[in-house]
Amino acid sequence: MDRYSTQEILIGEKGQDKINKSMVAIVGLGALGSLSAQLLARAGVGKLVLIDRDYIELGNLHRQFFDEADVGEPKALVVEKQLKKINSKLRVEAHFNNLDYTNSEQLLGGANLVLDCTDNLETRFLINDFCLKRQVPFVYAAAIAEKGYVYAILPEKERACFECIFKDSKARETCETAGVLNTTTASISVLQVNQAMKILLGKEVEKDLFYFDASGSRFEKIKVHRNPDCAAHAGKFLHLAGEASTSKNKLVKFCGSKSYMMRVSAGFDYKEQKKKLAKAGAVVDLGNAFLFKNATFFRDGRILVKASDEKEALSFFSKYVGD
Ligand SMILES: [Zn+2]
Repeated sequence: MDRYSTQEILIGEKGQDKINKSMVAIVGLGALGSLSAQLLARAGVGKLVLIDRDYIELGNLHRQFFDEADVGEPKALVVEKQLKKINSKLRVEAHFNNLDYTNSEQLLGGANLVLDCTDNLETRFLINDFCLKRQVPFVYAAAIAEKGYVYAILPEKERACFECIFKDSKARETCETAGVLNTTTASISVLQVNQAMKILLGKEVEKDLFYFDASGSRFEKIKVHRNPDCAAHAGKFLHLAGEASTSKNKLVKFCGSKSYMMRVSAGFDYKEQKKKLAKAGAVVDLGNAFLFKNATFFRDGRILVKASDEKEALSFFSKYVGD
């Protein structure tokens, strides 16, 4: 029996050929990306580009497709190994790196499709800019607590982009503080890959934003619209140019030390932040500041984190502070 014969009953040999010839970039290999990558590898995608800046932690295992032996290893390199075991024909390019405006062309260039499986708004806006500019489709996916969203963004005139819909979003909660269930993330990953396959096959793709609520077993299609004031649609790719005005958080490295300072200038609520983090680990009160893991949070919105490099510092902020 041919490897893809049961799939070909539905998509045909021509459809399978399209899948085999496609190149998909996956940004973020957490709960969503680690499963989406496996599904695409099994479906026979020709080449996968994997981008992730994180190491695997024990706290990832309940929802991310890694084993205990993988703890401490870079996600990108572990997923690369997994995928090659699943499908030896698959070509994989793994980048243990942080996607930003300086390397997006190098890392995403050549992909027919991008899957946004990240955990932060800054990278999502960057992917949106890149894909709109280069006319590459991408599928946004996000999950937190028991809720999730999936939306396919195609370079079509009437279709809303990520910025059209989420321009004023603030991610003040993260999975580390609000929690997340593996049934939610797995459901969202499956919905994301379902849209990805339609795009690769050249099928009709819904223009709605998908919303899934696991607690109420609710699935909704939400109508979304182009925003006439959308900068990306006007050809102003501020995130891609490194000039994003929405970026409130600026990371500064202290020379000669392993410390990074982030200043959260807008909407920082010291008490609220402290309360949120207490759910994720021990918080030590110092009066005008508090300690949490490797970081010190100050009342005025400064956060000092000890990290071995910028990737690790950014990863900390995405997990525990949000965008
Ligand atoms: Zn737009």
